Amino acid sequence: MNKSAYRQILKQYWGFDSFRGIQEDIICSIGEGKDTLGLMPTGGGKSVTFQVPALARPGLCLVVTPLIALMKDQVSHLRGRGIKAAAVHAGMTKEQIVVALDNCIFGGYKFLYISPERLGTELFLGKLRKMHVNLITVDESHCISQWGYDFRPSYLKIADVRALLPGVPVLALTATATPEVVQDICNKLLFGANCRVFRMSFERKNIAYIVRRTTDKEGEMAHILHSVPGTAIVYTRSREGTVRLAEQLTAEGFSATCYHAGLPYETKDKRQKEWETGQTRIIVATNAFGMGIDKPDVRLVIHQDMPDSIEAYFQEAGRAGRDGCKAYAVLLLAPTDVSALKRKVETTFPSKDYIRTVYEDVNYFLQMAMGDGRGCTRLFDLSEFCRRFKHFPAQAEAALRLLTRAGYLEYTDEPENASRLMFLVRRDELYRMRESNPFADQLLYSLLRTYTGLFADYVYISEQRLSALSGLTSQQVYDTLIALSRQRVLHYIPARQTPCICYTRERQEADRLLFPPEIYEDRKQAYRLRVEAMLRYATTDDDCRSRLLLSYFGESDSSPCGGCDVCLGTHPTGIRNSDFRHIESQIIRQLSAGAQSATQVIRAVSAPREKTGQVLRFLLDEDRLHLTDGILSLREQAHPTGITNS
Ligand code: ADP
Ligand code: MG
Repeated sequence: MNKSAYRQILKQYWGFDSFRGIQEDIICSIGEGKDTLGLMPTGGGKSVTFQVPALARPGLCLVVTPLIALMKDQVSHLRGRGIKAAAVHAGMTKEQIVVALDNCIFGGYKFLYISPERLGTELFLGKLRKMHVNLITVDESHCISQWGYDFRPSYLKIADVRALLPGVPVLALTATATPEVVQDICNKLLFGANCRVFRMSFERKNIAYIVRRTTDKEGEMAHILHSVPGTAIVYTRSREGTVRLAEQLTAEGFSATCYHAGLPYETKDKRQKEWETGQTRIIVATNAFGMGIDKPDVRLVIHQDMPDSIEAYFQEAGRAGRDGCKAYAVLLLAPTDVSALKRKVETTFPSKDYIRTVYEDVNYFLQMAMGDGRGCTRLFDLSEFCRRFKHFPAQAEAALRLLTRAGYLEYTDEPENASRLMFLVRRDELYRMRESNPFADQLLYSLLRTYTGLFADYVYISEQRLSALSGLTSQQVYDTLIALSRQRVLHYIPARQTPCICYTRERQEADRLLFPPEIYEDRKQAYRLRVEAMLRYATTDDDCRSRLLLSYFGESDSSPCGGCDVCLGTHPTGIRNSDFRHIESQIIRQLSAGAQSATQVIRAVSAPREKTGQVLRFLLDEDRLHLTDGILSLREQAHPTGITNS
C-alpha cells in the first residue's frame, strides 16, 4: 500500500487533502505490519492514524478504549461517513453484544470498539476466533502502565488477546507518556523487535502557562476572569467546591455553572451543551469534565487546586486554545498547597499496618468469617464504613485500592460508569403488584423486555435506553427506579454511587497479608516522583514553564516559550528571563566546544552585545565561567552529589 492510496482514503472519507504531522509515518509503519506507538497531543488527530490503515485493507480493526462516551461518538461519526462500526461495552444487554459481535464476523464491519473490561469475557474471546482482525488499536495506551498516572489493570488483558491474533500489528496511541511509560507500553503490549515509536511535539505555542501565588485564590480567580475575556474552565478538586465557586461567580455577575460526576446525566449534558454553545461562559468543574470535549475557543483554564501529576495538569490545561489563538493556563498556588500535596503521598499509600487494620474492619463490617468470602460480592458504603470505624475516607479508600491490587478483594466504584439493578421480588410477585406510581408500570415493562437475568443477578442497565423505550425522561426513569428501590421491589445502583467489595480470596489473617514492592514500595516511589515533578513545576521561578512540561515528557531540546510568567519575569541581571536563558544557552554551547576570548563569544551569540555582556558577567559572578587573560572557559559543573560530572 503506497502513500497516495492512504491519501486517497483520507480524501474519500474525511475530505482532508493531506496528513498532519506524524500521521503518515504512523500509517505507513502500520502498513508495513510493524507494532507502532504514536504520541500525539489531544486534538492532534490520532483517530485517522488507525482508521485509514484499517480501511486500506480487508478485515476488522479492534479498538480498545476506556471511555464509553467517546466510543459512542466515534461509532456514530464513522457510520455518518458510511463506514460500518460497532461498539461493545458494559452498558449493553447480552443480546445487543451478541448482535454487535456477529456483525463483526459476518457483516463486513470495519471497526469494533471495545472497553478493556470486556476483553477477557468468554463471549468475546469465543467470537474473536471467528473474526478477521487486521489491526489492534489501543487508545489511551498509557493506561497499561502502572508507572503512569492512570493505570487500569484491565488493560493488561490486551496482551492475552494479542496472543490469539498472531501476526496482527498493534497501534498504541496516547497523548501523555513520559519516556519510562513509553518503554513500559511497548513491553506490556509485547511489541516486536522492529517496532516504531513516533512522537509529535507537545509544545503549545499559543498557551501562556502561568503560576500565580496568592493567599486569596477566589479573589485572584475573579480578577483573572475579569481581565481575560472569553470562554473559561475553572478546575477545582471537590464537588462542593464547584458548587460554591460557581455560586460566587454568579453572584459577582459572571455567567457560570458547575459540573461534577455526581450530577444527574441530564444536568451534566445540558450544562456541557450550554457551555459549548457559548450560552454559559464559565464552567467550574472537577476533573470529571473534559474528556472528549472539543471546544476550540477556550481562552482560559484556571486551576484552583494543584493536580497530583504533570500528566493530569497538562491534559486539563491543554483544553485551552485548541484553535491556535492566544490562551492562558493559570495555576493558583496558596502557601499551604505544597505541603498538602506532599502529604497526599502518605494518604495515597498509607502504612501497611493501616491497610491491615482496614482489612480487618471491612471483615467485621461485612461480617465475613475467617476462611469464608471467596467469590462473595457485597455492596459497600464507604462513608458508613468510615463513620463506624473512624477512618478518613481518602485514606480508607486508598487502603482498599491497595488491597485490590494485592489481590485480596476487589473494591470497585463503578469502573464502567454504568448503573445496575436486580429485582428483589420474584417474577410472579411482580406480576401481582399494583403500582401507585404512574410511571412504574411503563418502566417495569420496558425493563423486562430489554434485559434478561434481572431476577438472578445485578444487570447493567442504561437509563437513557430505558427512557427511549418507555417514553419517560431520563430523570423520570431515575426517580422511578429510586422509588421502586425504596419499596424493595428492586435494588438499583445508580452509576458511580454505591461501590461494592468482592472477595477474590477467602478472608485471611491480617498479619499474613503481603504487599510486594511492585504493589507498594515501587508504586509509592513512582507516585512520589510524579508529585515532586508537579511541585517543581509549581514552585520554580527560573525555568520556563513550557520547557519544564515538555522536558517531563522527554522533549529536551525546546527553547524558552517567551510567554509564561517565568519567561516574562525579570532575571536578577535586569534582563527578561527568557532572553537570559536564550543567551546563556548559546554561551554554554559556544564554550563547550573549547575556551574562547570574550570578544569571540559576544560576536557568536545572536543578541545585543550589551545583554550578552550582562549575562557573561552574571555567569562569572556565579562562578559558572572562568576568565583568565581575556579567555573564557566553562567551569567544571559540580554534580549535586558533590562528585564532578565527568
Ligand atoms: P485526538 O484523538 O488526537 O485527540 P482526533 O483524532 O479526534 O484527535 O482529531 C482531532 C481533529 O482533527 C478532528 O476534528 C479531526 O477531524 C481533525 N483532523 C485529523 N486529521 C486531520 C488532517 N489530516 N487534516 C485536517 N484535519 C484533521
Ligand atoms: Mg482520540
